[in-house]
Amino acid sequence: MSWRSSALSNSRLIANLKSNGQFRSERVEKAMLAVDRKHFVPTTEDEVAYMDSPQPIGYGVTISAPHMHAMCLELLKDHLKYGCNALDVGSGSGYLLACMAHMILDNPSSTQHSDSAICGIEYYKELVEQSIENLKQSAITKQWLDEKRIEVISGDAWKGYPNKPNNYFHAIHVGAAAASVPKSLVNQLAFGGRMVIPVGPQGSYQSLVCIDKDMDGNLSEREICGVGYVPLVNPDRVK
Ligand code: SAH
Repeated sequence: MSWRSSALSNSRLIANLKSNGQFRSERVEKAMLAVDRKHFVPTTEDEVAYMDSPQPIGYGVTISAPHMHAMCLELLKDHLKYGCNALDVGSGSGYLLACMAHMILDNPSSTQHSDSAICGIEYYKELVEQSIENLKQSAITKQWLDEKRIEVISGDAWKGYPNKPNNYFHAIHVGAAAASVPKSLVNQLAFGGRMVIPVGPQGSYQSLVCIDKDMDGNLSEREICGVGYVPLVNPDRVK
């Protein structure tokens, strides 16, 4: 599945992902075309930046492969609309935050912005700083950062996103595998919202799970596919 979509330019990579069936939505396509993956991968080589594989970004972690980003955006697309609040957990390079922001804030039919929050939480402070530099490479994501529509903080996502209430985020993407689904994140999922999260131990079988919270707060979940993610570090258990 991976590699097949590799290319030498962002637009070709997205075209390949589309023709290989990694996403269908035009809104996902538009967002991924608007976000140049090369801004988020520490390389000057096009062969590396537009390869359909994870790439090291330091601290033993990787930016996820483009086909995983595409799949997760496709799963979350109905929850990444005008007015929605989105959370990217383990935001790493900041790539998915940029895509989420485009899907929520690019709204040609509206003359004014919504007050949506697009939030990222990342364990490593240095990666937060790097992701902000990455996001500043595009004028529009720089503007969204300056306007505080996009916010990236360092912290431990097991504790949830600080200073936001329960039932707040319409879309939550988790970019690292959790041994179990963090309760604080489930609490912060909005009524009618969706979370996409890899669940399972490191180095063993992990599955990408899609969790929906209905308008009455009932949860349902389904498994999408087997995946291999770096672990969602739990500092309380490491100690
Ligand atoms: N989705 C990002 C990064 C994926 S790697 C991208 O594609 O660029 C997973 C990220 O989760 C890493 O950056 C790692 O540091 C972060 N992470 C791991 N445990 C975490 C935790 N408890 N809280 C917040 N972030 C965490």
